[in-house]
Amino acid sequence: MNIEEYYNLKERLQSQNVELIAVSKTKSEEAIMSLYDCGQRHFGENRVQELVGKQDTLPKDINWHMIGHLQRNKVKYIASFVSLIHAIDSHRLLVEVNKQAKANNRVIDVLVQIHIAQESSKFGISPEQSMEFFTKLVQEQLDHVRIVGLMTMASFVQDKQVIREEFNAVTELFQNIKSKFYSEEESFRILSMGMSSDYELAMESGSNMIRVGSLLFGSR
Ligand SMILES: *Cc1c(COP(=O)(O)O)cnc(C)c1O
Repeated sequence: MNIEEYYNLKERLQSQNVELIAVSKTKSEEAIMSLYDCGQRHFGENRVQELVGKQDTLPKDINWHMIGHLQRNKVKYIASFVSLIHAIDSHRLLVEVNKQAKANNRVIDVLVQIHIAQESSKFGISPEQSMEFFTKLVQEQLDHVRIVGLMTMASFVQDKQVIREEFNAVTELFQNIKSKFYSEEESFRILSMGMSSDYELAMESGSNMIRVGSLLFGSR
């Protein structure tokens, strides 16, 4: 994507209040800096080691998003700086994030990942389990994590109708969870869904945070 296309996309997203996370996994620091120089400040990575390395050398005003599956034993490496963890997929992981956030004297924002896709390879809590998951969660005192919304990935299929139905289902779930558990909390407001191939559909369904890699940086 050239600079002009990036600015056009940014402008369109801003007018719809959608946040753009530039997914920079496997991409060089030079590639990241060229987007940084256009004003991009939110970047996403899916591997802890790569994330830590890039955070260490790149400008400190970048907001780093951990978008991939996170192992509990690796939370400690990112807890001091991570801006948003997108893929909370178990209660045990959330407890560990809380513990490491406390050790770093901070509150870490997180999203709960919902598994809606047909592929079993994708992580997350199923819609069926989600009410029970949140019921348990809000009864606990996890003072160092703040649940700010949901994240999901649609099925890897061509059929737009399938993708649309999945996004719509997660938007509905988001609204249900918000009204049932977080009606008093304005901070529960992020719906992270949509990637290069399906971000338009995701936005039509109500996404307000998209995670775009290959469209910005070229294919991996
Ligand atoms: C890689 C990745 C993306 C971005 O994918 P593109 O197709 O390159 O836009 C988004 N979300 C997650 C969780 C990813 O792992």
